Amino acid sequence: MSSEPLFKHLALIGVGLIGSSIAHAARERNLVGHISCTARSEATRQTALDLGIVDSAHASAGDAVTGADLVILCAPVGAYGAIAADISAHLSPGAILSDVGSVKQAVVRDVGPLVPEGVHFIPGHPVAGTEQSGPEAGFAELFDGRWCILTPPPGANQDAVDRLSGFWAKLGSMVEIMDPRHHDQVLAITSHIPHLIAYNIVSTVDDLEKVTEAEVIKYSAGGFRDFTRIAASDPVMWRDVFLNNREAVLEMLGRFSEDLAALQRAIRWGEGDKLEETFTRTRRIRREIIDAGQDLSDPDFGRWSSHPEEEEGE
Ligand code: NAP
Repeated sequence: MSSEPLFKHLALIGVGLIGSSIAHAARERNLVGHISCTARSEATRQTALDLGIVDSAHASAGDAVTGADLVILCAPVGAYGAIAADISAHLSPGAILSDVGSVKQAVVRDVGPLVPEGVHFIPGHPVAGTEQSGPEAGFAELFDGRWCILTPPPGANQDAVDRLSGFWAKLGSMVEIMDPRHHDQVLAITSHIPHLIAYNIVSTVDDLEKVTEAEVIKYSAGGFRDFTRIAASDPVMWRDVFLNNREAVLEMLGRFSEDLAALQRAIRWGEGDKLEETFTRTRRIRREIIDAGQDLSDPDFGRWSSHPEEEEGE
């Protein structure tokens, strides 16, 4: 545990899964002094106070950021422009303004022009999450061993970049610096398209006539249930991700559709060697993800994590 907090005052704009996880970890690891927050609803602000993860909760975003030396936007990215307009005049000179949004070019576009002179704008994205939402979903270990990508604009203050990197490292993350455009392409294929596929396959079930919903649920362990976890992710957050990373998602979706058509053709023409070759390559990628510490080989991973008492019995 560090003896001297890295920041005197952290302000969180939005205190759902990601915001509350930052608050838990920052508090537990003594990384900040005061933690203030705002959220759209009084209920969320009160829950954050009741959980003891923030010191003050404010109805106005401007009040929440007043006096803060680190401000992190943790709301859905579609709300960033309006939030930036609200807080702009209240940001302290020398403060770092960052975010956790799952897309980065749109954040630079929407927030960048509203950042006052003397405030260090360093967008970020912790590549960590669950399908849960809200302040009660957060936990201090969410960022442990996960990557956090920072996309400082050209000419960003190096000391501010180092301080923010140090903060994320102490939250448990490995930090990478990336160009926002490249970030959006990488995340389109590693996160956004997988979510779209999961949303699509689960919604297709709704339209099936030959297979009943009861059968789908009964036999879901055949693979379907693993998609349902991803497809249970927050609808507003994901709406905003697709609307704000349209170009990269459509580009990757084009590649995906071509490859899917190739698999469809191989099945139609009985080309078993092509199918086997593809499935062998994909198995290797799974192995590499496990070797890189980004998942466990345990087949139950994730299924019991919200029921630790059951996990203990394993
Ligand atoms: P969440 O659990 O739904 O929480 C969103 C929070 O933002 C809530 O506290 C909400 O308040 C607040 N909010 C919404 N609109 C607001 C506004 N206009 N002004 C102030 N606060 C507002 O969402 P999350 O999963 O933490 O996601 C937050 C951000 O993290 C998103 O930008 C997302 O792209 C990014 N992210 C998410 C994940 C993930 O896996 N979930 C991973 C990495 C990054 P109310 O509760 O009152 O509505």
